Amino acid sequence: TMAHSKSLLVLENFIGGKFVPCSSYIDSYNPSTGDVYCRVPDSGKEEVEAAVKAAKDAFPIWSSKSPLERSQILNKLADLIEHDLEAFAQAESKDQGKTITFARTVDIPRAVYNFRFFASSILHHVTECTEMATIGCVHYTSRTPVGVAGLISPWNLPLYLLTWKIAPAIACGNTVVAKPSEMTSVTAWMMCKLLEKAGVPHGVVNVVFGTGAKAGEALVCHPDVPLISFTGSTLTAQRITEKSAPHCKRLSLELGGKNPAIVFDDADLSQCIPTTLRSSFANQGEICLCTSRIFVQRGIYSEFLKRFVAEAKKWKAGNPSDPTVNVGALISKEHLEKVRNYVKKAQAEGARVLCGEGVDSLALPTGNQKGYFMLPTVIAEVKDESCCMQEEIFGPVTCVVAFDTEEEVIERANSVKYGLAATVWSSNVGRVHRVAQSLQSGLVWTNCWLIRDLNLPFGGMKASGIGREGAKDSYEFFTEVKTITIKH
Ligand code: NAD
Repeated sequence: TMAHSKSLLVLENFIGGKFVPCSSYIDSYNPSTGDVYCRVPDSGKEEVEAAVKAAKDAFPIWSSKSPLERSQILNKLADLIEHDLEAFAQAESKDQGKTITFARTVDIPRAVYNFRFFASSILHHVTECTEMATIGCVHYTSRTPVGVAGLISPWNLPLYLLTWKIAPAIACGNTVVAKPSEMTSVTAWMMCKLLEKAGVPHGVVNVVFGTGAKAGEALVCHPDVPLISFTGSTLTAQRITEKSAPHCKRLSLELGGKNPAIVFDDADLSQCIPTTLRSSFANQGEICLCTSRIFVQRGIYSEFLKRFVAEAKKWKAGNPSDPTVNVGALISKEHLEKVRNYVKKAQAEGARVLCGEGVDSLALPTGNQKGYFMLPTVIAEVKDESCCMQEEIFGPVTCVVAFDTEEEVIERANSVKYGLAATVWSSNVGRVHRVAQSLQSGLVWTNCWLIRDLNLPFGGMKASGIGREGAKDSYEFFTEVKTITIKH
């Protein structure tokens, strides 16, 4: 075991510009092999306290830099991550289980773009001004950074989602303490190694690694952290809301989804089918925006189902570093078990599993036999009340059901507690407008999926979240506004 432990990657917290070892560690698994390959600090109150102090100390200098100075540093950091894109992609794939192709083309390029985007957008905000000319008054608003921001992110898109918070937070002049998911901490640690070279002053970005219950909660409860930006599950968000209530903290909550795709009989199936396969199964279905309820209008239901299942069967699961593989490993053994259980429950209720789990056999390479793999699974004839149609599964499982009318499908699509994203497929422009307006969903994509303009708000309704992120929304969240009135 000595030789074994020697080969493990050991992460350290990054506090005040220095890597600091922790007194205890958690094992982190490679999901595609089932082996422990990394040790992550098991931080608690003490480590969070040190990180918050470093962030507080760095705040006066950082917040007084001009937006242009901060912008240049963010751009430099973007360049440095991009320079190491391949190493970051390899690390993300190994740590998370996602395919190397996905990490190379989605996760890491987006992390780079997050810094570039906010480096640019911070230069272009205009505050409001009104005039009461008859009494010689002008009013204007002024925005200033809030202080130390606590940033908590999930395991599905590790660096992508963490940088989507770090970039706007520091662009606005805040300093941060970030806590990535304990299951996917490696790329955040790699990013810390680049901060000094990018010119980020010590203490502006601090990262404490560890569990939600210990490190996350210590951050949420810290009195000197006035704002928390959280992406993760609805259950955790409830806990964070309770814990932060005594401090009246500002919260941004990006949570789960149970996203519908609505396919009308005039949809262009040659576009709808490949996109809906991606929207259901990309990143093993572990994206908050993934489709998991597909409503297909009765007239094309059989044809859709036949073609969709035939295409889903072509998706290959296996070694994530094999560029021909479409489905990598799920995040953990427990999560795989949870996702499989949903399929079992659906079967027990009389639904039909048309491909994937329990139907097709997984042919895994020798090195991946103990990995957490599952094939894209399509379930039909599921009742709307079924847990598979109501709860977030967060795996490569999608349900396909038939509908008759527009009114009916809107009601059924809205009949879940979540409201994050929806897709609508139709060539009738009036209908897509009408349906998009009626859906309880923070994002509606018509005839496409996952096309984002970062300028515009991102976030969910109902149990999918509170607040929005985007150029203007993140700027507003990460700054305090003041209204100033001047009379002659
Ligand atoms: P999670 O809620 O279990 O964990 C998210 C983060 O919160 C982790 O860093 C975790 O350590 C931390 N945490 C857990 N308990 C905590 C506590 N008591 N106090 C403070 N921090 C705590 O979620 P997950 O399983 O990592 O991620 C999957 C979930 O995230 C899914 O529900 C998914 O839909 C959601 N998600 C949402 C978005 C979005 O933008 N809306 C994006 C990605 C993922």
